[in-house]
Amino acid sequence: MSATPDRVAGTLAAVRDHRRHFAEFLYVYPVISRRSRGLSLGINLNPDKVCNFDCIYCEVDRRTPPRTRRLDLALARQELVSLIDFVQSGRLAREPKFNEVPELAREIKDLAFSGDGEPTMIPNFAAAVRMAVEVKQAAGLTAAKIVLITDAAGLDKADVRRGLALMDAHQGEVWAKLDAGTEAYFKRVNRTHVAFERILKNLDATARARPIVIQSLFLKVHGAVMPPAELNAYCARLNTLVRGGGKIKAVHAYTVARPTPEPYATPLASDELEAIAQAIRAQTGLAVETFV
Ligand code: SF4
Repeated sequence: MSATPDRVAGTLAAVRDHRRHFAEFLYVYPVISRRSRGLSLGINLNPDKVCNFDCIYCEVDRRTPPRTRRLDLALARQELVSLIDFVQSGRLAREPKFNEVPELAREIKDLAFSGDGEPTMIPNFAAAVRMAVEVKQAAGLTAAKIVLITDAAGLDKADVRRGLALMDAHQGEVWAKLDAGTEAYFKRVNRTHVAFERILKNLDATARARPIVIQSLFLKVHGAVMPPAELNAYCARLNTLVRGGGKIKAVHAYTVARPTPEPYATPLASDELEAIAQAIRAQTGLAVETFV
């Protein structure tokens, strides 16, 4: 499906008519997110589904073609304004699925750059942040965060750093991925040409500039949980970040929730994830939240 502003304008009328329409939006989507503790409005900056990682657990369906490959920020802005209005007028809370948790569906906890790829890969990330800031301010969402969910590979780009500075001034929060402690495990799980060293350097620079959240997916690979030596190395990476002056607000430890592209990448049981979280707490002293 291709989209034009006219088509979206029709969609916006449909919003006013209480129709289910989220699937017609190209760039924004509402989710009740446990990690956000409520309603998060996702902004998909990668409708082309392009990512610089190829995680063995990735939930993005890359077998079906994208509805569009183009990021149209003007259209994304229209969609975001419309979706926020839909929430603030209480209509989202009456939608199927959301009406099960109407109290959560009325309060926007964050606007999150997330979606089908890596947000820092786009050439105009700072402009996307500016758009989100302007829409957030116009809607009076003073307490809502602007969250960047990232694999950390592009955090050193000049335009991204400009975007992060803008986020800092508007309740920004970086949720950066770290799934490994060694280059070998990193390559095995995240399957990328990006060097592990670059990820670590980016985490270091970003966490020294503002507190960040580390988000780590733990899973079974061919039936095996993360080996103890790997978990120790992972904890050592976190300790190195903190010793270097990095501020880690929390670690979000979670596991596979949906079918994975690789059948050998499978979820942990809740007690397995909790055991890993306990080890991280013990070795780092950091706050670790688990999400099964
Ligand atoms: S970084 Fe995210 S979008 Fe990219 S492959 Fe991994 S899970 Fe998928």
